[in-house]
Amino acid sequence: MEEKVSRGVTILGSTGSVGMSTLQVLAEQREKFHIVALTAFSQAEKMFEQCLLFTPQYAVLVDTSSAQWLTKKLHEAGSTTKVLAGRKNLEYTASLPDAEIVMAAIVGVAGLCATLAAITAGKTVLLANKESLVVGGTFFMDAVKKYGATLLPIDSEHNAIFQCLPETYAGDKTKSGIRRILLTASGGPFRTTPALDMRNVTPDQACAHPQWKMGRKISVDCATMMNKGLEVIEAHFLFHIAPKHIQIVVHPQSIIHSLVEYTDGSVIAQLSNPDMKTPIAHALGYPKRLNTSIPSLDFFKISQLTFEEPDFIKFPCLRLAYKALEEGAGAPAILNAANEIAVEAFLKERIRFVDIPRILASVLEHFPRTLPIRTLTDIIRLDKAVRKFTQTYIINELQSVEQKVS
Ligand code: NAD
Ligand code: MG
Repeated sequence: MEEKVSRGVTILGSTGSVGMSTLQVLAEQREKFHIVALTAFSQAEKMFEQCLLFTPQYAVLVDTSSAQWLTKKLHEAGSTTKVLAGRKNLEYTASLPDAEIVMAAIVGVAGLCATLAAITAGKTVLLANKESLVVGGTFFMDAVKKYGATLLPIDSEHNAIFQCLPETYAGDKTKSGIRRILLTASGGPFRTTPALDMRNVTPDQACAHPQWKMGRKISVDCATMMNKGLEVIEAHFLFHIAPKHIQIVVHPQSIIHSLVEYTDGSVIAQLSNPDMKTPIAHALGYPKRLNTSIPSLDFFKISQLTFEEPDFIKFPCLRLAYKALEEGAGAPAILNAANEIAVEAFLKERIRFVDIPRILASVLEHFPRTLPIRTLTDIIRLDKAVRKFTQTYIINELQSVEQKVS
């Protein structure tokens, strides 16, 4: 007999690109799931609409004045949703007993504490927030084990790899007969742009991804290919595969979302339209499959599937990510923090697109990479120090350019 129990879901970052795709999937599954909490930073109007449509028990806005506005509007609309304000309530709603599933879709390290709160509470965590895993690494994966949480990847490539691995895969590549992981990359908006022309690209050009519609931070990461670098680190920690066994394959059509090669020469791939609703639906239904209205892949319309080697010279962020992963300890956290600051500066048009990898390389050189990451406090302390250093580095560079001009 079909189970009738409705599973509670908290969405961290419900107003973002992944958060909204999650709600689109859930809108078709109202008998199977109910929303415990929706959270966002400050997008009160979007949150107001989502609360009316999905009647969550809680709505959290980190920004206090946005939360006050939402409280008033929901009260006027006769809604029963309780509004909470502040960062700590992200953690609170991520660990509520009724929230069996937590979608971690906050962007950047800002999502770390709430994602870890869900893990510590032993939830089924649907991980989109790759930055948390990149900075937390082994500490993060140990917490998953220690608290009996279930971690399901949402990043389309990692979700694909998860689907291509044996059901029984327990982090032992050799035992499972795995040769390597082929991590696909679209190549981003500048795949065919000559390196010299990348000097003057604008934030809007960098955010105009040919295949995916995403938040602005990850869009810039795709343009620098740092996103793929972060994903190599993510794949390493999720699947316990050494960096030398993770091969990036540029596949501009974004139909194959990644592949696993086995020692008998077999290669298993996962294919679907480039739409985040597919990995989200997979993880929400796991281990079963949800019945959705997501359109079929039309093989007669796909004229070709092509593959290229990644260009490590034109996209130095790829090299930096492999380097940070090989150095281990705090290096991935240093790279991530510097990247978050550099991307923000680029989006605010304070630095050029091509400055991003140059700044990252300098910051990575500055910090002792062997700093251990044993506790959450270690991670937060290192993240803060790197952010501060990167900000000062950018300001100093800008001032020296101004002095040269004047
Ligand atoms: P987005 O910018 O569209 O949305 C981010 C969400 O996080 C919003 O709801 C925002 O309110 C919330 N948020 C931002 N800063 C916050 C803070 N300081 N505290 C609390 N909440 C905060 O981002 P996105 O594109 O949905 O990406 C979310 C995460 O998923 C990122 O880690 C990204 O790398 C990953 N991801 C996204 C996609 C995609 O297609 N968008 C694909 C794979 C992985
Ligand atoms: Mg991805």
